[in-house]
Amino acid sequence: MSHNFFMNLITIEKASSYDREEIKPAIIRLLEPLGGMRAFVKPGEKVLLKPNMLSGKPPEAAVTTHPEVVRAAIELVREAGGIPLVGDSPGVGRVDAVAEKCGIMKVIRETGASLAEFKESVEVQGSGVFKRFDLARGYVEADRLINLPKLKTHEMMTMTCAVKNLFGSIIGTAKPAWHLKAGVDREMFARMLLEIYLLRKPDLNIVDAVTSMEGDGPGSGDPRHVGLLIAGINPVAVDVIAGEIAGFPNKLLYVERVAERLSIDGADRAAIQTAGISPQEAKIRDFRLPHQSDVQWGLPPFLKNRLRHYCTSRPFAVPEKCRLCGICRDACPPGAIEIKDGSLHVDYNRCIRCFCCRELCPHAALDVRDGPLIRFMKKYI
Ligand code: SF4
Ligand code: SF4
Repeated sequence: MSHNFFMNLITIEKASSYDREEIKPAIIRLLEPLGGMRAFVKPGEKVLLKPNMLSGKPPEAAVTTHPEVVRAAIELVREAGGIPLVGDSPGVGRVDAVAEKCGIMKVIRETGASLAEFKESVEVQGSGVFKRFDLARGYVEADRLINLPKLKTHEMMTMTCAVKNLFGSIIGTAKPAWHLKAGVDREMFARMLLEIYLLRKPDLNIVDAVTSMEGDGPGSGDPRHVGLLIAGINPVAVDVIAGEIAGFPNKLLYVERVAERLSIDGADRAAIQTAGISPQEAKIRDFRLPHQSDVQWGLPPFLKNRLRHYCTSRPFAVPEKCRLCGICRDACPPGAIEIKDGSLHVDYNRCIRCFCCRELCPHAALDVRDGPLIRFMKKYI
């Protein structure tokens, strides 16, 4: 079969739990139509496994890729003769501390794999809108890259899955600057994510959707048992199928929409084949979308800017939960958060609604509310 056929082949399998006896055989079945792990890993190759290690939350919070998915991937890489390394750049905190809390460090120790720290970056020339990216050296220089995203909702981008997970190749401290460069425009942020993907394409993507996150993901949503694993070579095609399974409206899938507009391979649903169980059978009923007000996104630019302040959802700190730790303030790309007189203040004129603060707050102290105009309309209209 042609290379193109495999590029756009997405496989879907059921896995009802993270039990070790179930998850590894399910991943083996999942990879079978793609040629198995040996089709991607040759003996002696250094294989970087890139889970979602957003923050130090326990596996049951469904914020991070489940450690048993990482364990199965490590074992399969090793059985194929590869040398497994596990790496990511969390939004906040040291990777070893985050890996410890999310259970991945234990798996690394037990399997004898190594943790790849993304400390140093290398400059990579972009060929699109963004001219230069500083990507983690360990990410760029690995012989093979296996992306292990978790399927979750995302307040800014609606969904985070295979393409968005590659944003972890940007070192944590540099991420806010990239949010600022892309600004308030979600399509520009999607374009940036796609350009990062195109600079270093993963060899394989295995999505953990056994327990996903619905509602206000990626950090504050609710775990939702879905019982699925999804795999494919092309992360854009993986996300098209993941979005279809989750039932997200197309107009809210910014990465997929931009990929289609730019004719990036994998975005054309008609060209994607599936194997294993069908997307129809896999479909998740009533998957809860993140809280977001999209009024601004369909408006002409001059109105967008004026109405943004009044219409868009905004983060606010719940005083009873906020411990004034300052993590959100330090991570806020435009510096819109201030801690003053014993409370937290957000300058909504500066806030770009990236919701990084919600992603990173370790105490779930940031909530979202509608902009004042939307609140007024909901009350009186
Ligand atoms: S909102 Fe969360 S991250 Fe921000 S200061 Fe309060 S507790 Fe810390
Ligand atoms: S306040 Fe929160 S949502 Fe607004 S820019 Fe800062 S981190 Fe992003």
